[in-house]
Amino acid sequence: MALPDGPQSLSDFLSRDRNRIVARVQEMLTGYDREILTYLVPHLDEIETATRNLDLGGGIVTWQRHLGKVLDMVRLTRDGICLCNRLPDDSLASVRAEERKNLIEVIRSVDHPEDYSTTYVCRCRRCGQDYLAEEQIGWHVPTYEWRLVG
Ligand SMILES: [Zn+2]
Repeated sequence: MALPDGPQSLSDFLSRDRNRIVARVQEMLTGYDREILTYLVPHLDEIETATRNLDLGGGIVTWQRHLGKVLDMVRLTRDGICLCNRLPDDSLASVRAEERKNLIEVIRSVDHPEDYSTTYVCRCRRCGQDYLAEEQIGWHVPTYEWRLVG
């Protein structure tokens, strides 16, 4: 029988098994499950130690970097800070992806065809904070500059 999600996540992160860790990171970045994040808070040091020097592979963006995102979210959860607070530090956090994950909603968007960029006015669905996000279509992946508004 499978473990409940929290303990199963912890066991994946501590497994030193690249496939299990990557699959778990992927899952946690698609849903921002509050229960799992909360479950992992007291195990943060343990997870950091167990995963620190693992080669998780990955493309332009390595899986270690994605894992870093997940650990940042656990830290924010520990400190009682809304997950949207990490957006200004994450130039790869896509507006549409964050919207699909239900973290933010797009209030409006303005296209700038002259330089292939788009400006989005967004609001966090959890805490109500407003952001301006500038999307730049880069050579490999679009990048985003998130700024607090108000
Ligand atoms: Zn928020």
